Amino acid sequence: MFLEQFPQDGKPHGWIEVICGSMFSGKTEELIRRLRRAEFANQKLLLFKPKLDNRYAEEQVMSHNGSSFEAIQLEKATDLYDHWKKERLVAIDEVQFFDPEIVRVTSDLANRGVRVICAGLDMDFKGVPFGPMPLLLSCAEYVTKVHAICMSCGIPAQFSHRKKKDDNQVMLGAKDEYEPLCRACYNKIQH
Ligand code: ZN
Repeated sequence: MFLEQFPQDGKPHGWIEVICGSMFSGKTEELIRRLRRAEFANQKLLLFKPKLDNRYAEEQVMSHNGSSFEAIQLEKATDLYDHWKKERLVAIDEVQFFDPEIVRVTSDLANRGVRVICAGLDMDFKGVPFGPMPLLLSCAEYVTKVHAICMSCGIPAQFSHRKKKDDNQVMLGAKDEYEPLCRACYNKIQH
């Protein structure tokens, strides 16, 4: 389990944490766990998510297990600056949907002493790295890869298999359309 390491020298330290994995891997649960711990420590925080995600009520980030947190929806990465009032913790859910500028924005915040926590899908349903994720993972100090359980054989799964035929990379509000699969079971279905 990820445990925060806070330097005790009194200086403002920033860094980037990325939580990644397939669908149903518990990314958002892990993000919310870290935010709750920060809340207990009375840290001021902001949570963002991309505007296109309308799966649940507006302004809320809800994990599949039902726990929730208030979120601000952004159309593009640089809009984050319209809301940021020097909070020392900035979290971003569904970060894979953001434009490439999100890499520069998160690095900039970390450079200014902000702890940035991003959660997102590392691969799309075709098994291709998703949007800005490869760059974000490279730039992060801490990377946590979480796994779902393969619906076919029960071992850890890292692929989000789309059961319905639809070539769009972004297909939202469709939890039932996907199932997590391990590498072997995913390859069996793809070919
Ligand atoms: Zn499997």
